[in-house]
Amino acid sequence: MGTCGCDRRGFFGHAFGCGAWVAVALSAGTATARKVQARTLSDPVVTTPFARIEKLGEGVWAVVSTPFAPDGGRGDRTTLSNGGIIAGRDAVLVVEGFNTPAGAAWLSDQALALTGRRPTHVVATHYHLDHVGGLAGFRRGAEGPELLMTARTGALSAERNGLARPVEGSPFAKASPVLLPTLVVPEATAVLDLGGRKVRLVARTGHTDSDMTVELDDPRVIFGGDLLWNGIFPNYVDADPLKLSTAVRALLSDPAALVVPGHGSLSTAGDLSSYPGVLDAVEAAARRAHTAGLPMEQAAAAFTLSAGLGAWTLFNPGFYTNAFKAWYRVLG
Ligand SMILES: [Zn+2]
Repeated sequence: MGTCGCDRRGFFGHAFGCGAWVAVALSAGTATARKVQARTLSDPVVTTPFARIEKLGEGVWAVVSTPFAPDGGRGDRTTLSNGGIIAGRDAVLVVEGFNTPAGAAWLSDQALALTGRRPTHVVATHYHLDHVGGLAGFRRGAEGPELLMTARTGALSAERNGLARPVEGSPFAKASPVLLPTLVVPEATAVLDLGGRKVRLVARTGHTDSDMTVELDDPRVIFGGDLLWNGIFPNYVDADPLKLSTAVRALLSDPAALVVPGHGSLSTAGDLSSYPGVLDAVEAAARRAHTAGLPMEQAAAAFTLSAGLGAWTLFNPGFYTNAFKAWYRVLG
């Protein structure tokens, strides 16, 4: 983001400078932020100041980032987004490139420790920098995992992050990422066989113009990327809220599925019903305000989530504005 030298444009949104981070700890946000990142599904196998790893089944682990400091404000953002490790007999796939190369290098070490080998594949769910900014950290000299992303994510990353160009010093293991051209169509699926374990890569849209989910049947796990959030209000900066709503409902249709959201704690799909509730509350408020002719900023400033939806913290006070801006784009 040129105006303030902050390169986290994709994550923070366009309208906010880096200084907005200072204001993250909203009046009620401190206890909430602590609470939402503390909920675990199982005892973590690894815990660091920035993330923990929880085992979901044989050969399947989730990375849950814990980016809030004890006072609820900005904590350690080495990884920032969630992700995971999926091991088969022949290959080890990791989900996400994380916020910094140190985050990806850490996950590479964790994959080695937990599975006996370094990642052979890495999936980038979408182009936002907290999911791809650290990809270079997976490299070991000239070696590194194969990068899997949609062609659209590759294009967005090249256009907005300057990452995907096949140049010297490319963060990718090969000269350019392995793109999945078939995945540009929404809901197109590619199946990857890691050896005794099949992984489905499903192209979707809603959070950005191109999102990918990583899905397993046994155990039933959905790595939702930023289509799914838990306890942290979603980032609408690039969202199409109608497509987001459709994608979220499809993803949460099996209540027993384990869900790894892009940000926030693990859950089952059934226990994450407040998330579509949050999206619906934003939609209802935006439609009401739009019909009443209320300016977007005013509608966003007046918005609050009802306590019945549980604890939802904000990464950035501007996230409500981004949500209303996205809805006003759709409503015209
Ligand atoms: Zn994102």
